[in-house]
Amino acid sequence: MKIKVAKFGGTSMADAQAIVRSADIVKAEPARRYVVVSAPGKRYSQDVKVTDMLYECFHMSEMDGNFDPAFEKIKERFAGIAADLGLDMDMDACLEEVKAGMYKYRSTEYFASRGEYLSGRIMAAHLGFEFVDAAEVIVFTSGGEFDAAATKAALKKRLAGVKYAVVPGFYGADESGLIHTFSRGGSDITGALIAEAVGADLYENWTDVNGFLTADPRIVDHPAGIQQLSYRELRELAYMGANVLHPESIFPVRAGGIPINIRNTFEPENKGTMIVPEIDESRKGNTITGIAGKKGYSIIYIEKSMMNSEIGFARKVLSVLEYYNIGFEHMPSGIDTLSIVVADSEIAGRESVVMERIQKTVAPDHAEIKNGISLIATVGHGMSFKPGTAAKLCGALAVAGVNIRMIDQGSSEMNIIVGVATEDYEKAVRAIYHAFE
Ligand code: ADP
Ligand code: ASP
Ligand code: MG
Repeated sequence: MKIKVAKFGGTSMADAQAIVRSADIVKAEPARRYVVVSAPGKRYSQDVKVTDMLYECFHMSEMDGNFDPAFEKIKERFAGIAADLGLDMDMDACLEEVKAGMYKYRSTEYFASRGEYLSGRIMAAHLGFEFVDAAEVIVFTSGGEFDAAATKAALKKRLAGVKYAVVPGFYGADESGLIHTFSRGGSDITGALIAEAVGADLYENWTDVNGFLTADPRIVDHPAGIQQLSYRELRELAYMGANVLHPESIFPVRAGGIPINIRNTFEPENKGTMIVPEIDESRKGNTITGIAGKKGYSIIYIEKSMMNSEIGFARKVLSVLEYYNIGFEHMPSGIDTLSIVVADSEIAGRESVVMERIQKTVAPDHAEIKNGISLIATVGHGMSFKPGTAAKLCGALAVAGVNIRMIDQGSSEMNIIVGVATEDYEKAVRAIYHAFE
C-alpha cells in the first residue's frame, strides 16, 4: 500500500471547523497514514497565531514571573476547540500538564512548542490515531543542533508497525528530554523528515492557498498557480521568501526522491503544486516559473581601480565579514567594483566597524554601505532556453520607474536576482510579474 504523509498548517488547524475539514481529508484516503500538524493559526486576518501567543506568554514569564493571564487566553482557545469537536479526552488535564511544564522548564522553545503538542493531541483524539510525541522522534543535540541521522533512526524505529499516527510539527528534544524547536514555519520540516524516514510515496503539505503561486498573493492580485516545480526551483523560491514551504524542508525529501504536493485544505479538489526532482520536458516552454522576494538587506559597495588584477582582493574583503561572523547572500562584481549583499539581521549595529576594517584591509578608492534594499528572485529553468530574459526584466523595471541597485544572474541560468530600494519592492514585483504573464 502507498504511504502518504500529510502535514496541515496553522490555518488548517485554526478552529474546530478547519480541523474537521483536515481530518476529513485524512480519512478520504487510507494511504494518508502519518499526519503532522502545526499549532492553530489565524482564524481571521487580525487574529493571533497560537505560537505567537506562546512567545508572548514566555515574555510575560520573563518579565514578572506570572504568565497566567496570557496562558488563560491560550487555554480558552484549546478548550473551545476540544469542546466544539466533542472530544473524548481530558483537555483540562492536558492544559494543566502543559502549564506545569512551563513553570518547570521556563525555556522559550518549550513554551513555543506547546501549540503543536496540543494541536497534535487534539488531532490524534479526533482521528482516533496514535499520538507520537515529536520529543521521542525528532532529535536535537544538547546544544540545540538538529541531528538528522539520530532522527531518521528514531523515526524508523518508533513508526515501524504503527499504521496510523499523528506527530506534532516544529519541535523535538535532546537526550535529556529538553525541548528544541526549528525556526518559524518548521512544521514543514517535520513532515519532510517523516516522509523520508518512512519512505513515503508522497509528502502532502496542506495549507490555505492552491499550491505555489507565481508570486506572493499579498502583492500580486490573483497570481497564476504553478502546477509543477523542480526541487531546485523550489529551493530558490522558498529561500527567497515564498514562505509557503520552509526552505529547509526540501533536503529530506530530496534525499528520498519523494515528491511534495502543496494543496489547499479549503479547496481540496484543486490539484495544487507538484514538486518533483526534475521538470517535464513540456514545461521548458515557460520562461519563468515564479517570483519571490525579501526585504531587509544592505549592499556593501566597494570601488577600486584595477581590483580585478589584485590577486586575493575579494578574499580579503570576505575575510572581514568572516572576522565578524557575517554571512553574505550575493557578490556581483565589475572590473573595478564589488558589491556584497548582506542581510540586515547579520550586520545590524556593526556597519561602521565592518566598513572601517574593509578600509584598512583593502584600501578602496571608495566604499559605502547602502541600506534599505530588497531582493527579488525571478526563477525558472525556462530562462536558460530563452534569450533576452534579463533584458525583458530590466526593461519592465525601467518602465515602472524602478532603479536596479544590484543585479546577479545565478550561474545555473535559472535565476536572476535584483536588488531594489525597499520602497519600490511591491511595485517591482508587480512589474516583473506582468512582464512575463
Ligand atoms: P501554513 O500555516 O499552512 O504552513 P503559511 O502561512 O506558512 O501556511 O504559508 C502559506 C502562505 O504563504 C499563503 O497564505 C500565502 O500568503 C503565502 N505565500 C507567500 N508567497 C507565496 C507563493 N509564492 N505562493 C503561495 N503562497 C505564498
Ligand atoms: N507554529 C510554528 C510557527 O508559527 C511552526 C509552523 O507553523 O510550522 O512558526
Ligand atoms: Mg508554513
